Amino acid sequence: MVVGAGIVGLAHAVAAVERGMSVTVVERDDHAVGASVRNFGHACITAQTGEALRFAEHARGTWLRLGEQAGFGVAECGTVVAARSGEETAALEELAELRGPDQVRLLTADETTSTAAVSAEGLHGGALLPRDLRVDQRRAAAAIAAWLTEQPGVRVLWGTPVLSVEDGLVRTGRGPLHGDHVVVCAGHDLDRIIPDAAEADGIRRCVLQMLQLRAAGLKLGPALLTGTSMLRYPALAGTEGARALRERWSEQRPELLAASVNHMLTQLPDGDLVVGDTHTYARTPEPWSSEELDELLLAETRALLGRDDLAVVRRWQGVYASADGEFLRTRVSPGVTAVAVTSGIGMTTAFGLAPTVVESLA
Ligand SMILES: Cc1cc2nc3c(=O)[nH]c(=O)nc-3n(C[C@H](O)[C@H](O)[C@H](O)COP(=O)(O)OP(=O)(O)OC[C@H]3O[C@@H](n4cnc5c(N)ncnc54)[C@H](O)[C@@H]3O)c2cc1C
Repeated sequence: MVVGAGIVGLAHAVAAVERGMSVTVVERDDHAVGASVRNFGHACITAQTGEALRFAEHARGTWLRLGEQAGFGVAECGTVVAARSGEETAALEELAELRGPDQVRLLTADETTSTAAVSAEGLHGGALLPRDLRVDQRRAAAAIAAWLTEQPGVRVLWGTPVLSVEDGLVRTGRGPLHGDHVVVCAGHDLDRIIPDAAEADGIRRCVLQMLQLRAAGLKLGPALLTGTSMLRYPALAGTEGARALRERWSEQRPELLAASVNHMLTQLPDGDLVVGDTHTYARTPEPWSSEELDELLLAETRALLGRDDLAVVRRWQGVYASADGEFLRTRVSPGVTAVAVTSGIGMTTAFGLAPTVVESLA
């Protein structure tokens, strides 16, 4: 039994069915509308470290295979990281030194503008991370769920809220369900089902503001990261360059640090840009979006692309589970395991994490 049909739950169902198990996925909504469809669709592989990097590398292969089998877009377009200061260039050089040219290709300013539609204004250079992927996040979860239901021994129950779980038993609003093992993948709502496991791991909700922008004729190609991303993704955040950048920004750009901005862009198949993000953390967040933060993202995007003609098509908030560690894996009882990606990298890592959890059940 898997609770939740977001990408983490679906990854567990895929891993289980590939190991010959029968699986029931139980989802409260009619289709996935959580973090797994609200994100950038960015498999940010190269900028991870440690266990997350191993999961991400494994997940890369699964995304490519599932994209083919389930019929949704997975682009091997890589990521461009734009450097607009000496510190950012230094951070990219350190990463290139560490990882080598197969994973990190340094770009001149001219190469950066021609690879990722970035404005030349104030640009020092950049790097291409060719192993990263861009997944069609608006279609992936639904397509994987549909593909799963075609596999022997799998069913996905939509519109079925889970009220509680215990060994061998899932109580739902539609009655009880029975199975040998229950894996709870309810994302940030883990605390609604197993509050003690969420609390023990210090889970909070991280709320992100996001924009969908229309920029006529713009062809982005790769995902696009900026200096703000260098302060977040561990392989870059650990560099001397990123440390120096944070120090300077604490004086010069405190608004970026206060909102934990990770200014990044991906392009949807229809050409619109997904732009974000800002981060606020709370166990129970306040419900308001901040116009000031949206304006900050817009201003940063206009400057990055050198375009004044960006139209806002949609605004939304995304929420994910956040804790000090990157992954929560708690055996709540012999037959119940709680799993969450607790660092905003579920699209990158879920398909690497899930096989390890499913194998530990066997
Ligand atoms: C704005 C934003 C941008 C992001 N960008 C990226 C990115 O580019 N790359 C990346 O790697 N990661 C990114 N992430 C993180 C990534 O999206 C998440 O880590 C991942 O989607 C979490 O998947 P999930 O399945 O745990 O959660 P969700 O997608 O939220 O799914 C949880 C599911 O559980 C269901 N559920 C909850 N409670 C119950 C219940 N009681 N009964 C039945 N069903 C229940 C929910 O309805 C939901 O469908 C981003 C996240 C956000 C919010």
